[in-house]
Amino acid sequence: MAYDFDLYVIGAGSGGVRAARFAAGFGAKVAVAESRYLGGTCVNVGCVPKKLLVYGAHFAEDFDQASGFGWSLDEAQFDWATLIANKDREINRLNGIYRNLLVNSGVTLHEGHAKIVDPHTVEINGERHSAKHILIATGGWPQIPEIPGHELAISSNQAFFLKELPKRVLVVGGGYIAVEFAGIFHGLGAQTTLLYRGELFLRGFDGSVRKHLQEELTKRGMDLQFNADIERIDKQADGSLKVTLKDGRQMEADCVFYATGRRPMLDNLGLENTGVKLDKKGFVEVDDQYQTAEPSILALGDVIGRVQLTPVALAEGMAVARRLFKPEQYRPVDYKMIPTAVFSLPNIGTVGLTEEEARDAGHEVVIFESRFRPMKLTLTECQERTLMKLVVDAKTDKVLGCHMVGPDAGEIVQGLAIALKAGATKRHFDETIGVHPTAAEEFVTMRTPVTG
Ligand code: FAD
Ligand code: NDP
Repeated sequence: MAYDFDLYVIGAGSGGVRAARFAAGFGAKVAVAESRYLGGTCVNVGCVPKKLLVYGAHFAEDFDQASGFGWSLDEAQFDWATLIANKDREINRLNGIYRNLLVNSGVTLHEGHAKIVDPHTVEINGERHSAKHILIATGGWPQIPEIPGHELAISSNQAFFLKELPKRVLVVGGGYIAVEFAGIFHGLGAQTTLLYRGELFLRGFDGSVRKHLQEELTKRGMDLQFNADIERIDKQADGSLKVTLKDGRQMEADCVFYATGRRPMLDNLGLENTGVKLDKKGFVEVDDQYQTAEPSILALGDVIGRVQLTPVALAEGMAVARRLFKPEQYRPVDYKMIPTAVFSLPNIGTVGLTEEEARDAGHEVVIFESRFRPMKLTLTECQERTLMKLVVDAKTDKVLGCHMVGPDAGEIVQGLAIALKAGATKRHFDETIGVHPTAAEEFVTMRTPVTG
């Protein structure tokens, strides 16, 4: 049977655009549907605008520290509206680039909400298009627990477009987004509380990293409330919010920001017209080649709930395009050793196993840790310390994990990830000459284990 398209991609985010462009490059006839914004979450309400706001917040400490180097500044003033307007301009520019990327690679762009009406047909803007393969790349959406008053809270989607910087912000959650936005609000001058339901935030990260970040954020004056959860939110006569915790305590805030995870975006997608199955958490279930239970339909990226990171969605998009249209070049995505950064202030960078994961997996481990005051701070009053940690297999000498909390941790860990992927041993690290004077050289000069 002749179809209108070889591949119909739903969602022009990180994964969808990558799959569409490469499939078209391999000679396939491809369409992509986008209902909201070209580039998806990462470009519009994720990685990119978030990083711009983190840069904005970082200036506070730069101004603070400059006097140690002889600079004198009048009191620094910050204008949220300028930052948001400039950010919006940059995002508009990127939207245009995404449009050109798609059009120039020969992909047909349909702007509107796409719905699957049968396993080979998509309906959009009142028109039906048939396709040999349909790819679901619809991403995720913030999830806020339905406590009384939840409609008074915002998520990351709204945070990027606030008209004013709130004076008092309560950030709820202990994952990437909560920690990053708490750093943004705090850095820009809002009185910020981070409230997390568990003992210590960033579950799943290395224990030393979590503890170190807790200490650094506390030093900076951020209010960290652990073992705390919200029961209800009420609006007060003056427009501010009264937050009642489950333990009965009450707090006031001008903005309550929930960052409590993301659900798959499947709204009105028409999955009931297909044999696509969902997993226990509600994400689209796929096999190791991104095939759903419906033979003509594939899915990738945040909507499959594996690893919700842009470079992972990109790798999955590439794998799908190759598998369908260039099978001789197909390589499965390797989910081991995925480096990641949390753009908190200070940053976290991490790759490989945490100490806890390595021990649980049965490795006998040797741990190397270094904590130091970065050279840049020696002329300042700032007492911030950097943490670097290596988790090494005692038997094979292989470096199983690298973890860092400190300036540019994400930048540093990207290079280390290549070494770990190549199977580097501690001896390789030891035999590598440092770049002096840098903080990164500490990763090749740690000689004395902290535990055996
Ligand atoms: P998305 O990028 O979400 O794209 C899905 C697209 O599908 C959207 O554009 C949506 O409008 C569209 N769509 C949905 N339904 C339909 C429909 N029915 N019809 C038509 N179109 C539809 N990752 C990192 O690696 N680094 C970071 O620093 C980082 N920071 C982040 C910060 C925040 C605040 C958030 C929320 C996420 C962040 N992420 C980060 C995660 C990253 O953004 C996602 O992993 C990535 O965008 C997932 O790509 P995707 O292609 O699966 O989906
Ligand atoms: P995460 O899954 O990272 O964190 C969710 C947090 O919310 C956890 O601390 C979780 O607690 C808590 N939580 C979940 N449900 C509730 C609830 N009902 N009440 C109170 N707390 C709750 O999600 P995020 O929203 O922070 O981010 C989504 C994903 O986006 C990330 O996992 C990451 O993959 C990606 N991302 C990546 C970034 C980067 O690469 N720098 C930046 C931002 C996002 P508990 O741990 O106890 O379950």
